[in-house]
Amino acid sequence: MMDLYGFLFQRVLYPGLQSGLKRRPTLDHLRELERTQWCSLDELEALQERELGRLLAHVFQNIPYLRERYRAAGLEVGDVHHLDDLRRLPLLTRDEAREHFAERRSVAPPFATIDKSTSGTTGRPLAFAYDFGSEYWRQATKLRGYGWAGYQLGDPSIHYWGSPSLEPPPFGRRLKETVDHSFRREHYVDCTERSPEALDRVVERIRAVKPKVIVCYAQAGAALARHVNATGCRDWSDINVICAAERLFQSDRSAMMSAFGPGVFETYGNREVMLIAAECEAHAGLHQSMENLIVEVVVRDGDRQRLAEPGELGEVAITDLHNYGAPFVRYLTGDLAVAHANERCACGRWLSRLESIEGRSTETLRDAQGNPVSGMFFSVLMAYLADKVREFQVIQRRDNAIDLRLVPVGKLDDSLLQAIKDHIGKYVPGVPLRSEVVSELLPDRTGKRRVVVVEN
Ligand SMILES: [Zn+2]
Repeated sequence: MMDLYGFLFQRVLYPGLQSGLKRRPTLDHLRELERTQWCSLDELEALQERELGRLLAHVFQNIPYLRERYRAAGLEVGDVHHLDDLRRLPLLTRDEAREHFAERRSVAPPFATIDKSTSGTTGRPLAFAYDFGSEYWRQATKLRGYGWAGYQLGDPSIHYWGSPSLEPPPFGRRLKETVDHSFRREHYVDCTERSPEALDRVVERIRAVKPKVIVCYAQAGAALARHVNATGCRDWSDINVICAAERLFQSDRSAMMSAFGPGVFETYGNREVMLIAAECEAHAGLHQSMENLIVEVVVRDGDRQRLAEPGELGEVAITDLHNYGAPFVRYLTGDLAVAHANERCACGRWLSRLESIEGRSTETLRDAQGNPVSGMFFSVLMAYLADKVREFQVIQRRDNAIDLRLVPVGKLDDSLLQAIKDHIGKYVPGVPLRSEVVSELLPDRTGKRRVVVVEN
């Protein structure tokens, strides 16, 4: 049940906080999304086709770069009616999105007025932009997805993550954000420091705030959960946890379930389009944000491409249906996911699902012959060793050598370490392997700690 403050916040304070222009579309869209999530698959796909038609009409008219590209592929505006026709449009790679950013901006309204970039830990930064119409859909989509995890506007929440930007925001904006956050009862806690003392301070914040939901970077939440479990300091009833930004491993989910309760929800998104998919209360894969995005799991084989079969791994391609300012059409995010069969979920929703997110394609290692080896292999291995290895990180250097860093539980004996190395050697043959036992793994400057890093 929502408390009185939560009720007032939703009905009175939140609408009052936002300008009339901003609040209305977001809350209207949210209401619409709460209705359409119960639509049949046919209805949802019809909705996508309608929005796709509108978007492509705009693209052919106002985005000269994409128009020329599509024409070169032999396509005109009327050629894409159905979702199946979408496959005829060329994919937009990350490199291409970066190189042709200026030419991908609309030459007519709505213009892209919100400019952002992603840092890209191993690659070069990618600049992108979108218009305000898209922003409202993004906010509404996020609110619906978080709603599946029991979060509603006005609920007390802790956001345990890193600073999204290294530059402090200008004072005026910072003040506004602080005011916004405190009205919304959103409490931001930096996750970059992971010493026992820092984790104790987070526990104190949890006791003080009594959050309904903790939103966290998956790896940060897992480190916190392990600290809670190890010190036995849990004295709260169940708190739902929404994991974002980093991959959620099964062993991390289990640790969080002991520390906070059974409601652990994985979400998948990126800065370019925000929430792509989110887990519902049935915890059976992640529902796609179908009304805002077309999500494809694509298998490329040379020049040919097809959609992944259920259970098959492929590359995630996104078409953002509401970003007219600088459109993403069939944009390859760089992430790998496993496709799910199109069937009704136990929760009753038909919204298509992703079975799992397998991380970034930059997490794919290469053996000495150049054959790909999924970084997933390490998470499976380490889940198996969970009672002996607390944390790990795998870095494949440019010269192919692999550095394995381990944080053991207690003391790691030499024979076990040798067994781990032998095992890895079988999966990534011919590659030099170095191991290092450390007491702590540090997150990068944005507060994320990547489990598998491939330098390129
Ligand atoms: Zn569901």
